[in-house]
Amino acid sequence: MQLPREVIVGKGTLQRVPEVAKRLGLRGKALVMSDSICYDIAGKAVSDFLAESGLSVDFLLVKTMTTRDVLDIENQIKELKPQVLFGVGGGTIIDAAKVSSRSQNIPFISVPTTVSHDGIASPLASIKGSDKPYSVLAQAPMAIIADTDVIAKAPWRFVISGCGDVIAKFTAVKDWKLAHLEQNEYYGEYAASLALMSAKLVIENAELIVYRKDEGLRVLLEALISCGVAMSIAGSSRPCSGSEHLFSHALDMVNSHHAMHGEQCGVGSILAAYLHRANWQRIRNTLKLIGAPTTAKELGVKDADVVKALEVAAKIRPDRYTILHKLNLNSEACEKTAKATGIID
Ligand SMILES: [Zn+2]
Repeated sequence: MQLPREVIVGKGTLQRVPEVAKRLGLRGKALVMSDSICYDIAGKAVSDFLAESGLSVDFLLVKTMTTRDVLDIENQIKELKPQVLFGVGGGTIIDAAKVSSRSQNIPFISVPTTVSHDGIASPLASIKGSDKPYSVLAQAPMAIIADTDVIAKAPWRFVISGCGDVIAKFTAVKDWKLAHLEQNEYYGEYAASLALMSAKLVIENAELIVYRKDEGLRVLLEALISCGVAMSIAGSSRPCSGSEHLFSHALDMVNSHHAMHGEQCGVGSILAAYLHRANWQRIRNTLKLIGAPTTAKELGVKDADVVKALEVAAKIRPDRYTILHKLNLNSEACEKTAKATGIID
């Protein structure tokens, strides 16, 4: 089980980089990875603070996160030999830092500039162009430094997506429980409770988030980090990714002009809750309150795409038993589900 040693969340926390570096005993060389936008927003500040702390700092600009990019980053790490890697940016950068630091056996520190999904603290990463459309195990961050001043500057849609990803844990945990009962799969009460509590807290604090209060952002960040910890405890994405995530991955494949991960997982969670005979209306109403998409139209996809994605979702991961594997819905039943929940007309 890998857990972060330091989690710092709040306003102006970037300034605490030197303090964290000291506590973690970071010495020698650090490599800071970012894209050009996040470099201006936070990457430069992190580099400067590290240099102030007496570390020698190299900087690496990353644009995309394909298998090829990861190889390039790994070669850079081999050449520069840093003791620690800082990933400063959104999900792509942090995933790249996770995968490359793990393969080169050095710790990484997560400095998120957006809150669009739970990857900021999880040990899992997704790589474009790999044969798996879902996340794979890499390593958890040694520390997380999340500055709400920085995160508040990102487009609001990222926050909405992050909320969708957390609310989706309701059905992810239901699927996990189902797999435990029907397939005798390992089920961890502690990891499941942590994921569930995160979803509950985001729902209960939805208004703080809607009104863009700093406390609201903190609740969301803490929820996303707790989800990452839940995955570390479980040793897989199980507590945080069920049929709603399979629906989102399927939608990515069915329509290349898809919405954001958390937005799709939110809609997937409405469908999954309906199939579990759970309170799907509560999920839909919270998503609506937050301003997240709850229909195919709002996701920017065709009605037929939603039906198709729901139909093929289970095939993406036959090994991950969910309500979709149990029910094995045909196209007609998928259409009926999407209509009953108001996702399509
Ligand atoms: Zn997710």
